[in-house]
Amino acid sequence: MLAYIGLGSNLNNPKQQIKDALIALNTTADVQVVGLSSLYQSKPIDGSEQPDYINAVCQVDTHLTALELLYVCQNIETKQHRVREKKWGARTIDLDIILYGVQVVASKQLIIPHPEMMNRAFVLVPLSELESDLKVPVLGPLQALIDQIDISGLIKL
Ligand code: AMP
Repeated sequence: MLAYIGLGSNLNNPKQQIKDALIALNTTADVQVVGLSSLYQSKPIDGSEQPDYINAVCQVDTHLTALELLYVCQNIETKQHRVREKKWGARTIDLDIILYGVQVVASKQLIIPHPEMMNRAFVLVPLSELESDLKVPVLGPLQALIDQIDISGLIKL
């Protein structure tokens, strides 16, 4: 299965955090990182006084189920000492499953497509770098989603 994972960080050397998370993903059994977008910089979405975020999206080829992949992501977050202070608070690393093939998931633990993806330039734009003509399950063509949001605050590094 091909899945997309969004990575984000705004603490403790964000670029290194993302690199470490990618290495951790790629060294997980049954997970191979097969694509990686550029890095993007943006302001915190709530406009609060936090450092800018660095984000990227990677594509993984995996034999894991979506839920197993979520646990892998959560383990990596824990290992990289993510501190969950508040919902939109600063974080060392955040890994979100954006898409898992064309599968639609709506369980207590996991929602795919990621429920916020359509609002997030730092997800949609890097995703389009990897697959510009992607049709997102439920939501429709990726390009149409990008056309509906403000991407002006996103800086490609
Ligand atoms: P966050 O603070 O953004 O990392 O959200 C973490 C919570 O979102 C966890 O409790 C997950 O179970 C839940 N969640 C729901 N859907 C997803 C998804 N597609 N990817 C990652 N976490 C998800």
